[in-house]
Amino acid sequence: MSTVSTALDILRDVFGYPAFRGAQAEIIGHVAGGGDALVLMPTGGGKSLCYQIPALLRPGCAIVVSPLIALMQDQVDALTQLGVRAAVLNSTLAWQEAQAVEQAMFSGGLDLVYIAPERLLLERTLAMLDALYTAGKLALFAIDEAHCVSQWGHDFRPEYLQLSALHERYPRVPRIALTATADQATRNEMLARLGLGEARVFLSSFDRPNIRYTVVEKDNAKKQLLTFLAGRQGQAGIVYCLSRKKVEETAEWLSAQGYPALPYHAGLPAQERAANQRRFLREEGLIMCATIAFGMGIDKPDVRFVAHLDLPKSIEAYYQETGRAGRDGEPSEAWMAYGMQDVALQHARIAESGAGEGQKILESQRLTALLAYCEAPRCRRQVLLNYFGEQREPCGNCDVCADPPELWDGTLAAQKALSAIFRTGMRFGVSHLSDVLRGKASDKVRQYGHDQLPTFGVGSDLDEHAWKSVFRQLAAAGLVHVDMAEHGALQLTDAAREVLKGQRQVQLRRPLKRKSSPSRSSSA
Ligand code: ADP
Ligand code: ZN
Repeated sequence: MSTVSTALDILRDVFGYPAFRGAQAEIIGHVAGGGDALVLMPTGGGKSLCYQIPALLRPGCAIVVSPLIALMQDQVDALTQLGVRAAVLNSTLAWQEAQAVEQAMFSGGLDLVYIAPERLLLERTLAMLDALYTAGKLALFAIDEAHCVSQWGHDFRPEYLQLSALHERYPRVPRIALTATADQATRNEMLARLGLGEARVFLSSFDRPNIRYTVVEKDNAKKQLLTFLAGRQGQAGIVYCLSRKKVEETAEWLSAQGYPALPYHAGLPAQERAANQRRFLREEGLIMCATIAFGMGIDKPDVRFVAHLDLPKSIEAYYQETGRAGRDGEPSEAWMAYGMQDVALQHARIAESGAGEGQKILESQRLTALLAYCEAPRCRRQVLLNYFGEQREPCGNCDVCADPPELWDGTLAAQKALSAIFRTGMRFGVSHLSDVLRGKASDKVRQYGHDQLPTFGVGSDLDEHAWKSVFRQLAAAGLVHVDMAEHGALQLTDAAREVLKGQRQVQLRRPLKRKSSPSRSSSA
């Protein structure tokens, strides 16, 4: 019997599913045959079976490394219910319990053991694995949430860096690393840091067709959120905010508005955090207001919307966070409000991060890519998937497809805007620059003598709202840099010179609609 048909038997008899999804069969065949693999599959894609079935096919016990201690027991319980022999090995176990697990690993009584990385790397555990290895009883290593090895992601776990040792110590044991993170930089980091140079990479489509993407220009974020939430009473959702303070305020405010909401951030006492998470998972129709501390491994199928009140730090992060909506495949919403202030805040975060110069540049580029997504005149899904290397037709299920923006030749407007930045010494923010362009002699404009500049009043054809949109789009196009150390001052980049010299055209979109959400009538 071939490996694949045996795998299919297990899929049917043990897991009760009739057929494999996507690349599952191929991945399982590869790993069961002893090959290393890096599996990139979106959340809900079915990663678990990719190591669980090889674990059952290969002799010995599989070791599953996961950073999510809280969820390990759930996974083991689910497997046990199916009759799969699985256990957890972690710090919550009593000494005798741990010993019983270890004994079962040797006696062939376990097919899968879930271990946290810090536990795995203890010399004691490694000594046990050495013995298992010698006896030919290690089936495979599965490294779940493999993107935790990336030092620059917000899920970084230092212990993950040491997991490359597994390969050196146990060269004959196949390894399968899995993640729902797909950007090229993180992918390369995983391959390099986990020593997966020889691994086959399985990249699934990252499209989440049931999620509708919408980006609105931030104006009065709370009010816009309320408009978005209208008609969503009773739906579970996540509202992401940048700061802990804002998380708490927003949760309180939403509750007062009749949308029961809970806060979640790393500054809350562990007990309260866990309790809020439990309520969110078990009760219906709760909103979780959270920082990015919330989310990884949260398996709640019916999250109907993910709203961003603040800009995430990259497309990657945005995709991860919005990906928590609609795991059940039902129509769901990814909604975001963003404005120039967000851009400045994110630049400040990068500047203050203490990272090296090269890393800062990379982070800025990631942020610019996200801005380009926010300002893109084309289908959001096209832009998102393009970022992950996939080509697409317009999706028909995003705000841009529903209501395509009008484009105009913004070269002249861009030149005016860039020259206003230049002539004022690259020290001022959007509001001041827009005053200068519109010929508004505010106190500040007069104080700096900017009413005497040749640029003063050259942009009186556009209103303040339109100029702000122009500046945002220039930032998204990489023509303008927002310097937070200078209180959000706009500065020209090298690319801006080409526009000023008339060597480069600039296409702009009309300002995003002020309405915060398109009519809901068509998509009930
Ligand atoms: P991921 O870890 O990629 O987020 P999971 O492994 O948790 O995804 O799988 C998501 C859901 O899809 C689970 O409920 C799982 O049982 C189900 N699933 C996985 N593979 C299949 C399949 N071949 N057929 C049907 N359902 C599947
Ligand atoms: Zn679209």
